[in-house]
Amino acid sequence: MSSSMNAGWQVMLGSSNPHKRAELEALLAGWPVHLWTPKDFPGLEPPDETGTTFLENALLKARYYHSRTGLPTLSEDSGLEVEALEGEPGVRSARFAGQGASDADNVARLLSLMKGKSNRRARFRTVMVYKDAGGEYVFEGALQGQIAAQPAGTEGFGYDPVFVPEGWNSTLAQASQEAKNAVSHRACALRRWIVFMQEREGWKK
Ligand code: IMP
Repeated sequence: MSSSMNAGWQVMLGSSNPHKRAELEALLAGWPVHLWTPKDFPGLEPPDETGTTFLENALLKARYYHSRTGLPTLSEDSGLEVEALEGEPGVRSARFAGQGASDADNVARLLSLMKGKSNRRARFRTVMVYKDAGGEYVFEGALQGQIAAQPAGTEGFGYDPVFVPEGWNSTLAQASQEAKNAVSHRACALRRWIVFMQEREGWKK
């Protein structure tokens, strides 16, 4: 890694998900930070996400990538919690239809479990952890909404095609990245981290 080419803070993003990275980078535009990702470190494999909560997994990823790269590290774990399914898929959101399941497989499983359910309330949650030499800091975000009857839209990823945020009449996958970032669980957590960096490190745009 060559940090000389990138001005500002060098922060490791403990996630290999290109959609999450794109969302976060858009929100960080203009802030004095460059995000590194696991792809920038050949041979750096992701850790097993063995935690039973978003916090455990976010901490596990922050500690792992911080120890491997030596960089201040931002990680997050996120997922969908559906009321009628007692909080499922939760931490298993990425593998709801089985290990290696695609987004479409997970959405299909969710819709089949939701057949006939009148309570379609759900929320996305993100737990973000920032770890540096000074400590570990936690930032959370959530987005309330409803599970749609059918998928709609092609933007975003994961459960976006079946998630209708509160007050919307379209899914997140029918919205631009900008519109999703205005309301999303991940954007909410990230904005809290930015405020922390403004207060603690004097970040300015
Ligand atoms: P993680 O990478 O282990 O945090 O898995 C997160 C999983 O939760 C993703 O694979 C998606 O299935 C789901 N998820 C998290 N955030 C979002 C989102 O913003 N939109 C749609 N699905 C999401």
